Parts: sequence; C-alpha cells; structure tokens
Amino acid sequence: MNTLPRIAFIGLGHMGGPMAANLVRAGYPVSGFDLTADAVAALVSLGGSAAPDAASAATQADIVISMLPASQHVAGLYLEQDLLAAIRPGTLVLECSTIAPETARKVHAAASARGIMMLDAPVSGGTAGAAAGTLTFIIGGEAAVLERARPVLEKMGKNLFHAGPAGSGQVAKICNNMLLAIHMIGTAEALNLGVSNGLDPKVLSDIMRVSSGGNWSLEKYNPWPGVMESTPASREYEGGFGVDLMLKDLGLAMEAALQSRSATPLGALARNLYAIHSSQGAGQLDFSSIQQWLKRH
Ligand code: NAD
Repeated sequence: MNTLPRIAFIGLGHMGGPMAANLVRAGYPVSGFDLTADAVAALVSLGGSAAPDAASAATQADIVISMLPASQHVAGLYLEQDLLAAIRPGTLVLECSTIAPETARKVHAAASARGIMMLDAPVSGGTAGAAAGTLTFIIGGEAAVLERARPVLEKMGKNLFHAGPAGSGQVAKICNNMLLAIHMIGTAEALNLGVSNGLDPKVLSDIMRVSSGGNWSLEKYNPWPGVMESTPASREYEGGFGVDLMLKDLGLAMEAALQSRSATPLGALARNLYAIHSSQGAGQLDFSSIQQWLKRH
C-alpha cells in the first residue's frame, strides 16, 4: 500500500503539468484537476488520476497544490468557490502561482481560520526547471509548515528559500521578476545600440558578459537571435516565459509599490514597454522578444 501523502494538484498547465508529473514519478498518489481536459488526460497517462472537480480532489488529499494563472483564479477558487470548505483541517496547501501578496495573505488567513496549513510558494526556473524538477521555491509562511512541505517540494525543486511570513514568497518573487524585466530590457537596448553601430552581437555579448555589464540575461538568456543556440531568441521567441506573464508580474510589482509608496521608476517603464509590446501582438512570445520591439523603434 502507498503510504505517501495523497496529493490534489489543481492547475495542470505549462508549469503545473510537469510539476505534477514529477510527483507521480516519485511515487505520490496524485489526483489532478484542470479546466482543460487534455491537461488532466496527460497526467492520467503518466499514472495520476483524474478528479471531476477541485473539491473532490481536495477532500481526499493530505496536500493540496495549486498552480493557476493569476490572483483572480486563486481568490476565485479558494475563497469565492470556497474550496477551503472542502479541505480537511490539518491539510497542507501549497499555493505556487505568482499572485498579489495581498491575495496570498487573504487566502492564508482564511485557511488558518479553518486549521489548514498554507504556504505561498511561487517558483522560479520556468518550464525547463518544472520538467527537470529543479525549480526554486520562494516561500512565505511559517517555518514549521515549510519543514512539513519540504519532502514534497524537493521532488519538484532544487532550491527552497524561506522569504518570511505569509505573502513574503510573493513579494520576493515579484521583486525578482521586476529586476529580470529591467535587466532584460537593458541588455536588449545595449545589444541593439552595438549592432546598429557595426558590432557583431556575439562579440559584444562576450565582452559585456565578463565586464561590468554582465548579468543573467547575457549569461543564460541572450535576447539576440543566434547568439545562444538554446534560448527562445534562437527559435523565434517561442516557448520560455511569455510577455503577458511578465506583464502580469510587473503589474503586481506596481500594485505592491503603490501600497508601500516605494519608487519604482524603472519597473514602471518596463511595465509600459511590455504593455506596448503585448498590445502589438507579442503577448504569447517569450519576454526576451522585447529585443524585436527595440529593433523596430
Ligand atoms: P498556464 O496558463 O499554462 O496554466 C494554468 C492552468 O490553470 C491552465 O491549464 C488552466 O486551465 C488552469 N486553470 C485555471 N483556472 C482553473 C481552475 N479554477 N481550476 C482548475 N484549473 C484552472 O500557466 P503556467 O505557465 O503554468 O503558469 C502558472 C503560474 O506560474 C502563473 O502564475 C505564472 O506566472 C507562474 N510562473 C510561470 C512560469 C513560466 O515560465 N510559465 C515561470 C514561473 C512562474
């Protein structure tokens, strides 16, 4: 008999699908639910089971994991549809979507009022990290709850960071993604300037990578097509981390900045540039495609 905790996995998209698959491979009994039947069928083909709805999966579970698009989906599911009512006290809820810290705190409060233990556990590492089980989890909530969640999180990720109390995982995640957007745009701008002035993009990238302009975009995710073989830039910006998801995260950063009265001038500019880029039809392309926008303007 399988003595591992029973897992309900809700939201089996680009990230949730491969994360749930890693849990099935590790031997956990996983019952999945998604609004898209194909996503559930993919889990079943690996040995998971299909739940008719989120509540049926959650009622049976020792651990509930959700990986949904945005704040409204998480608030909709846990609070408006009252999924929490279907979850037994003592159950662990790992909410892995990237959402507003405020929404995460509301769901935490409602969960703890029912004796349910919750962590906000947004991830970094993209679809490749989800498939390889090497995600970084950035966690908000109680340290003792994190220790209980550790074995299952370690089946999906390599690095676990405890950022602080409820909501802190989301705050750290949106700070990181705001910085990522800013240095991606800066990198694309520098490459565009250099190439417009006669430089080879690969030579310029090699120089800047080991000079004071060096950053993660230059090291791992060069936005100029052909400079790095395996990046989205070299496959017409397909796959990777979408412009619309980056735009969502920059919106979350702006909401947090308003609440704390923090100045985020570069984050605001990055949000505007990605909004223009998305409105011109690039919403589904990888976020490094901001390079194309700069080339055109
Ligand atoms: P996705 O759109 O591929 O998947 C979300 C899934 O949730 C979809 O399959 C959708 O059908 C399902 N869904 C929506 N509402 C539902 C509901 N009420 N019940 C059940 N299923 C529901 O998105 P994704 O790329 O997997 O991203 C998920 C989250 O992870 C987002 O918050 C995103 O910002 C974050 N994230 C994504 C990446 C990435 O590279 N894609 C990286 C880090 C973090």
